[in-house]
Amino acid sequence: MEQKQMYKNLGISEEVYEFGEKILRNLEGRFQEIDKISEYNQLKVIKAMQDNRVGEAHFAATTGYGYNDMGRETLEKIYADCFHTEAALVRPQITCGTHALAVALSANLRPGDELLSPVGKPYDTLEEVIGIRDSIGSLKEYGVTYAQVDLLEDGGFDYEGIRNAINERTKLVTIQRSKGYQTRPTLSVERIGELITFIKQIKPDIICMVDNCYGEFVEEREPSDVGADMIVGSLIKNPGGGLAPIGGYICGTKQCVEQCAYRLSAPGLGQEVGANLGILPAFYQGFFLAPTVVAGALKGAIFAANLYETLGFSVVPNGTESRHDIIQAVTFGTPEGVIAFCKGIQAAAPVDSYVTPEPWDMPGYDAPVIMAAGAFVQGSSIELSADGPIKPPYAVYFQGGLTWYHAKLGILMSLQKLIEEGIVTL
Ligand SMILES: *Cc1c(COP(=O)(O)O)cnc(C)c1O
Repeated sequence: MEQKQMYKNLGISEEVYEFGEKILRNLEGRFQEIDKISEYNQLKVIKAMQDNRVGEAHFAATTGYGYNDMGRETLEKIYADCFHTEAALVRPQITCGTHALAVALSANLRPGDELLSPVGKPYDTLEEVIGIRDSIGSLKEYGVTYAQVDLLEDGGFDYEGIRNAINERTKLVTIQRSKGYQTRPTLSVERIGELITFIKQIKPDIICMVDNCYGEFVEEREPSDVGADMIVGSLIKNPGGGLAPIGGYICGTKQCVEQCAYRLSAPGLGQEVGANLGILPAFYQGFFLAPTVVAGALKGAIFAANLYETLGFSVVPNGTESRHDIIQAVTFGTPEGVIAFCKGIQAAAPVDSYVTPEPWDMPGYDAPVIMAAGAFVQGSSIELSADGPIKPPYAVYFQGGLTWYHAKLGILMSLQKLIEEGIVTL
């Protein structure tokens, strides 16, 4: 059967298919670049696994306290080696990215300390962790204050503002690599390095933490290669490779990671406890697959950018700019556009393709959010997924795809829905 017919069977009209093929013809060079980075990162992961002599014994389940969990300890060494850090905490007991970040912050801050974000407002869920929005158990409740310096109009760092904001209480700086639910550009590893160098020149003992969510394996280097003391992320995003069903990681200096371990478990226990309950094969294999999975997701993002840019929508990043995370923002300007797009992503999924996503009030977010996710792992956003807060500018944030082919189908389906709703005409 012809390829076109296969797409037709899934609900993609010939017109939409041909439009997609036309866009793709210009993307060969970009896709080759992505494959190159993916290949580099694949070798990096294999080297770390070989150097740590991974064997069958590392996949065994442990229970109870989880003392002497060889598989867990070796996996943490692999993460540390791969990201060039002294230590790592990689655990199923870290429930999500927000939890990993909350642990990293609260472990390394003490009452009276100040936390600084020099890159503007952090990710929505961190507002409650920090206490920007009042919340039970926030850092604010524990006497940790917060300062923020916004990015300049052109997206640049406000170096003067940052210099003025740093004081004797500034203990930790949080730098969010990815744009999150904003339309600012994502920070490249190079720019993060420049920012860290600047900050350390002013006050060398400031801990620089990078929220690395969605950034892992997009470039050959990670923020830990350019001076970050801690990088933090979720295993149901990039580094879990789609296979990890839960988890988070914190990689960094021995001192920072140790603090995190005592905070995650208990003072006195630290990294020594935490049974793996049989989850390690998924963590190992997911990390092994992650560079390839990230490449597929990136191809999807670039395809979406070029397709929707051609149709006249504002897209961040634009069709030609370099990539530093797997998120693609498309601004539709209306709730209907956001909803139709998400319906398309949902309809293309291998799981729950028959359900219709609706906006709802999600914990941790300040506006209704619509989420499309037909995922094997609930909420996994390394799998093809889209979400958008229902508030101006009505942008949808699209990411993931365990395979490029699935990402392609999802994007074509989103366009199909926008056409069917009368929002777009080809
Ligand atoms: C996803 C994300 C988080 C939070 O992770 P959850 O797993 O959703 O809790 C934090 N920061 C950024 C930039 C993210 O993309």
